[in-house]
Amino acid sequence: MMPFPLTLASLLERAGKLFPAVEVVSSRPDNSIHRYDYREMHRRARALAAALQDLGLQRGDRVATLMWNHHVHLETYFGIPSVGGVLHTLNLRLHPDELAYIVNHAADRWLIVDDVLLPLYEKIREKVRIERAYVVPFSGHPVPSGYEDYEALLQSSSGHPAYPDLDENDAAGMCYTSGTTGTPKGVVYSHRAIALHSYSISLPDNFSISRCDCLLPAMSMFHANAWGLPYAAVMNGSKVVLPGPNLQPERLLDLLSAEQVTLTGAVPTIWLGVMDALERQPKRWQLAPGLRIVIAGSAAPESLFRRFEKFGVRVIQAWGMTETTPIVTVGTLKPHLENCPDDRKFQVRARQGLPSPFADVRAIGDHGEVPWNDQTPGELEVRGPFIAASYYNLPEERNRWSADGWLRTGDVVTIDPEGYVKITDRTKDLIKSGGEWISSVDLENALVGHPAVKEAAVVAVPDSKWVERPLAVVVVKEDARVTPEELRCFLAEKFAKWQLPDDFIFVPELPHTSTGKLLKSQLRKQFKDWPRLSVKAEGTT
Ligand code: ADP
Repeated sequence: MMPFPLTLASLLERAGKLFPAVEVVSSRPDNSIHRYDYREMHRRARALAAALQDLGLQRGDRVATLMWNHHVHLETYFGIPSVGGVLHTLNLRLHPDELAYIVNHAADRWLIVDDVLLPLYEKIREKVRIERAYVVPFSGHPVPSGYEDYEALLQSSSGHPAYPDLDENDAAGMCYTSGTTGTPKGVVYSHRAIALHSYSISLPDNFSISRCDCLLPAMSMFHANAWGLPYAAVMNGSKVVLPGPNLQPERLLDLLSAEQVTLTGAVPTIWLGVMDALERQPKRWQLAPGLRIVIAGSAAPESLFRRFEKFGVRVIQAWGMTETTPIVTVGTLKPHLENCPDDRKFQVRARQGLPSPFADVRAIGDHGEVPWNDQTPGELEVRGPFIAASYYNLPEERNRWSADGWLRTGDVVTIDPEGYVKITDRTKDLIKSGGEWISSVDLENALVGHPAVKEAAVVAVPDSKWVERPLAVVVVKEDARVTPEELRCFLAEKFAKWQLPDDFIFVPELPHTSTGKLLKSQLRKQFKDWPRLSVKAEGTT
């Protein structure tokens, strides 16, 4: 066979040739709608590619985006990598200091930023070393003076990029994760990984994506390739609807209904809100028959499957990580399970799912690989062609990989005899709130930096909206005094507001293991019913 490389330029050209009339719909910040088709997306992505080459783009140069989900972000998904650039999506929810660290660590050369996100850009502007920033007039208003206009960049372009002979293993994109403790770590996606992942999620037993579909990625395009949906949509020639910042339940339902979306996805928090809105006004929206909702990022509760089913909506649970491009397992049923009673079917579908082709999974316990008996827990390890082999420019960060090269996920699972993976716990010392990580260790380290704090533990407590929220349990130094409000203000200097603990509980001492480590499992158990527990006393000893 020909050693033909799997690259994204090929998908872009195919979409331009075969699906020119397929629509790309975006919702602007004021809820007005922008519409164009793949012909225009193809033209503009090529214009971006050629403009970057005129600016002197070299293979492997990072081009960052700080953007919501909309058509220009889609252009960058293809325009940047098709000429050898690396699309680096920046998480707009991070604290400016963390963002600046990430931009500098990745050595981003250019930035493309939404006009509505300029206030955030201004907070990092003096701290980052980028050559130029181009502003997208996403709000519909002219770009403010003093900034370079993305539209002017496209207009200045010849529109004809010279596609280099890329190797399929060349970098196409990158994304930083705080999904492990410590500093953020970059994951670099190759063209090959993205191409194979696009095929993988499109398979009938995964998300079953076809040119008949209309896709609405409600997960962020700045987070793990929006689970690969934008790439798969263009590969298949599917219509795409992009919600911009309008992720409120009613706005999402308006879009799902108006555009007759057939496949969407996001973290559970979004769908819990959507479900409530649907149940409040069951007749208000006409959803497309057989709408599928992919839920990942945190466990989708079984009740959500049942509630959506009443509206003819099929929930599909998937599991993945930024390190895995990201979708590895998908919770769809084998045919013989379709004949089981409903309870059993919901139970299986609420598992994280079966591994995709080419993705191997195993669970490792204290004595090596555990059997697939649905009973014995072990840490999930994965390997495959779209699973990271290392972090970007962090050669010392090797403990995420086993000696024989599998990615250690930090998730504790059981695997049943059919191969369905179920997450039961995690070893990662993290809190996942609304699909975004909060590092408990970082918060603890910051807290003990306060002069009145002797020791602190931050644990995840269940939350009906955000799935988990952080709670700080604090031991105050003898003779010292501090209030929750003072601790909150102290942390607010370093952390984004949504990362701050919801509450601070003062205790005389914290539980420890025999080796002196904080016994977080005990604290999690003790405070699992918080905030109904009302132990919020002022911190004095
Ligand atoms: P993502 O973009 O998928 O959120 P992250 O790297 O931020 O990627 O987080 C990956 C982690 O999220 C997993 O290791 C796991 O702990 C958690 N996770 C992802 N999907 C699920 C799921 N379906 N159920 C439970 N936990 C999940």
